[in-house]
Amino acid sequence: MFDPDKLHEYVGVFHIHTTDSDGTKDHDYIINLAQKYNLDFITFNDHMTLAHKDKEGWYGKLLVLVGYEHEDPEGKNHYLIFGVDKVLPADMTPAEYVRRTRQVGGFGIIAHPDERRDFPKFPPLPWTDWSVRGFDGIEIWNHMSAWLEGIAQGNKLKYLLNPRKLLSAPPPDTLRRWDKISLRRRVVGIGSADAHGFRLKILGIFWRTVFPYKVELNSIRTHILTKRELPKDFAAAKEKFFRTLRQCRAFISNHRWGDARGFRFWAQTPSRYAIVGDSINVNSKLALFVKAPQEAEIVLIRNGERVSSVQGSSAKFPAKRPGVYRVELWREGKVWIVSNHIRVTVPRGSRNGGKTNSPSTNSRGRGKNAGRSRK
Ligand SMILES: [Zn+2]
Ligand SMILES: [Zn+2]
Repeated sequence: MFDPDKLHEYVGVFHIHTTDSDGTKDHDYIINLAQKYNLDFITFNDHMTLAHKDKEGWYGKLLVLVGYEHEDPEGKNHYLIFGVDKVLPADMTPAEYVRRTRQVGGFGIIAHPDERRDFPKFPPLPWTDWSVRGFDGIEIWNHMSAWLEGIAQGNKLKYLLNPRKLLSAPPPDTLRRWDKISLRRRVVGIGSADAHGFRLKILGIFWRTVFPYKVELNSIRTHILTKRELPKDFAAAKEKFFRTLRQCRAFISNHRWGDARGFRFWAQTPSRYAIVGDSINVNSKLALFVKAPQEAEIVLIRNGERVSSVQGSSAKFPAKRPGVYRVELWREGKVWIVSNHIRVTVPRGSRNGGKTNSPSTNSRGRGKNAGRSRK
């Protein structure tokens, strides 16, 4: 039988700034901190620089990746780019840097896509060009964005002193957008810190780190799942890391509500299974399974709509209709875990049913990624 516990899980934090751009600590400080918190990976994404690309590598069991955060000539449309040797030209349009990243075999994630806030000192920087094609991922939840939005809405002191308080759920607009795009093709949803170790002049007199890295590394995390261990060889590990993300074998957690290690979402029939990110053909015996390390409200979402929910640390939902399915786990009214999608598809050659409300059958690896249960 398929054993979800046999998957390898890597937990990490995306999108960290350093003193190379507008962060307040250097790479070594943050790497040490990540090791202290037992993270398996971190990614650095300074603005428009790859100055410390040489910091990439394995640090014991911590995988450190260095990409950067590209912006358009107006400072908008932020894109996390990995797998390029040099920063792309600053005069490129979003469509151009998305395309170029893909052409050179890189990996790109749209950052804080629906950012909004009324905060003159820090104007919102949303993604505006949705005609772009070929991005690999979307930040579903960005801690810095959520924090600044909370501060802009008032409650300044509360959020300044406790930057994790306002993290209740990912922006609904972003979730809607992600679910919609996922009907057509795979796009991985990740969570990110957008960590800066933010300092602020309090009462106009003294500087205080109001949003330290130690908080940022212990909030929004992304977990990836692999069938085999990441290779010890760094180049091979990096390649597998991004391949796993392309397959959407990932979920997001807010660590504040509990360690989400061990959460699993999979689909199974008596003879086949699919892990998160995979596709599987619809079947009368198909069910979706959830297992969580702690009790929560487990909400099933199909094609962007909430279809079922149960309270507990495990769940089984029949999946009789095709569609893109994901789950959200809530604790005390706040989102704890968001999974990526499982695609339940119509078998090739069957005429009816595939047209509406079902994931596109020409997406990469339709059905192929699903494994056969070993008895
Ligand atoms: Zn940004
Ligand atoms: Zn950033």
